[in-house]
Amino acid sequence: MRMSEQTHHDPTALQSLAAAFTVESNTHPVSDERRAQLIDKPAFGEVFSDHMAHMTWTKGEGWSDRRIEPYGPLNMDPAASVLHYAQECFEGLKAYHHDDGSIWMFRPDANAERFRNSAKRLYLPQLPVDDFLGSVGALVTKERAWVPTRREYTLYIRPFMFASEPFIGVRATNEAEYCVIASPSGPYFTGGVSPVSIWVEDQWFRTGPGGTGFAKCGGNYAASLVGEYRGIEHGCEQVCFVDAATKTYLEELGGMNMFAVHKDGHLETPSLTGNILPGITRNSIIRLAQDHGRDVVETMIGIESLLDDIRSGEVTEVFACGTAAIVTPIGRFKSERFDVSVNGGKTGDLTLALRNELLGIQLGEIADPHDWMWKVC
Ligand SMILES: *Cc1c(COP(=O)(O)O)cnc(C)c1O
Repeated sequence: MRMSEQTHHDPTALQSLAAAFTVESNTHPVSDERRAQLIDKPAFGEVFSDHMAHMTWTKGEGWSDRRIEPYGPLNMDPAASVLHYAQECFEGLKAYHHDDGSIWMFRPDANAERFRNSAKRLYLPQLPVDDFLGSVGALVTKERAWVPTRREYTLYIRPFMFASEPFIGVRATNEAEYCVIASPSGPYFTGGVSPVSIWVEDQWFRTGPGGTGFAKCGGNYAASLVGEYRGIEHGCEQVCFVDAATKTYLEELGGMNMFAVHKDGHLETPSLTGNILPGITRNSIIRLAQDHGRDVVETMIGIESLLDDIRSGEVTEVFACGTAAIVTPIGRFKSERFDVSVNGGKTGDLTLALRNELLGIQLGEIADPHDWMWKVC
């Protein structure tokens, strides 16, 4: 996927697109007191706000019923295709509270475009970009009291779509549902910024050539779990997958992209071969590094040469990045064959600087030269 170049957007765009959604308020919302507790100490992905956005698609009618409704169980037929054949895709982005009380999102237009690419790969209908932006804008506006105010705490937004037609033959669906739910979240790694250890998994793959690696779909995650748990059994916090075809090149973590910093100051990151999810954080880090005059090389990173470069000091820092964890230092690579620490297991200076810069833009603490932030309300 090519991420769109500069998109100087209208600052009121999200509000006008959100107006297409009708709002049915929850008559039993969580109390103000309980909500205050929940957003002060959120457990990632366990608590959800009072409302959700919802739209319906049928082959004949297209997209309809743009609505915000009370959060609650979906009414789904047991024969719904998604339950059998996993026709599903999703997105993940965050709503940020700024010091003046306003609420913002980071590059939601890029998530909207990626959602269309994922849907296309899964043979699902493509949601118009304006409906994606309108749905997240309408939900976040309705739930603005759910956006945590503590620094680095956010309202995590999860749009998703699935094939809902009750039909267990295998073909493109005639019915789909699109929903957006919201979950208050704190820093992804509760221990603060400290390097994680990575299991290099070369037995089980999350995807392969011509597969769904570039699509953000549940199936990739289902396929990644055995590898994730092999990593945990070996005492690692995260897993990095290698390419299925040659078992030679590092691709990405279960849900994060990866960068290596070389001693001359340039960065390398695995190229988007189709096996790799084109992260919006990855794309943003490339832009920020280039803003600082650094070269960023998108290339195939061989595991053996990376390990040699780490051992020799040619590579000084390695980090992972994604919306949930922003930028996370990698302190160690482990497998059945090796155990190599990076930068003495310490957080590198550039890793920390890039993390602070990206977070600073997202929190409205420093200038946003690329017009990445979209005001919600
Ligand atoms: C979502 C995701 C990422 C990170 O993408 P961001 O847009 O930066 O959040 C990386 N890898 C996988 C497999 C993902 O699903």
